[in-house]
Amino acid sequence: MPEIERSRPPLRPSMIAAPGIRLALKRGLCRKCPRCGEGPLFRGLAIRERCSSCDLIFPPDYGDIWLFMVFTARLPILLGIALFYFGFRSADLGRAAIFFVLLAIPVLGTIRERQGLALALDYLTRRM
Ligand SMILES: [Zn+2]
Repeated sequence: MPEIERSRPPLRPSMIAAPGIRLALKRGLCRKCPRCGEGPLFRGLAIRERCSSCDLIFPPDYGDIWLFMVFTARLPILLGIALFYFGFRSADLGRAAIFFVLLAIPVLGTIRERQGLALALDYLTRRM
């Protein structure tokens, strides 16, 4: 006999203790709602409009998140520039391609985590 899935009513904000800065950032990094830590931040590739657990509205304007994403995406590129400045040279096209791929992996592989961190930072700044 199949079990009937019941949806839980959303938590009221007054029922949730405000998390500390470290906890909110950790939740964002884990792609969960920074306030309750239960609701997922993403639906597929898109950021949800609100938390499914506590009804926190995620920012409709992604300007601040976009700026954070741009800055954090530049960090591996900055590392590549520093390596080039301190003497990394490659006459071999294959090694140069590997170098650029190694720079792109952290940028592309951490998109969700950086978005979650940006949403947590946005939550913390709105809460204050
Ligand atoms: Zn939530």
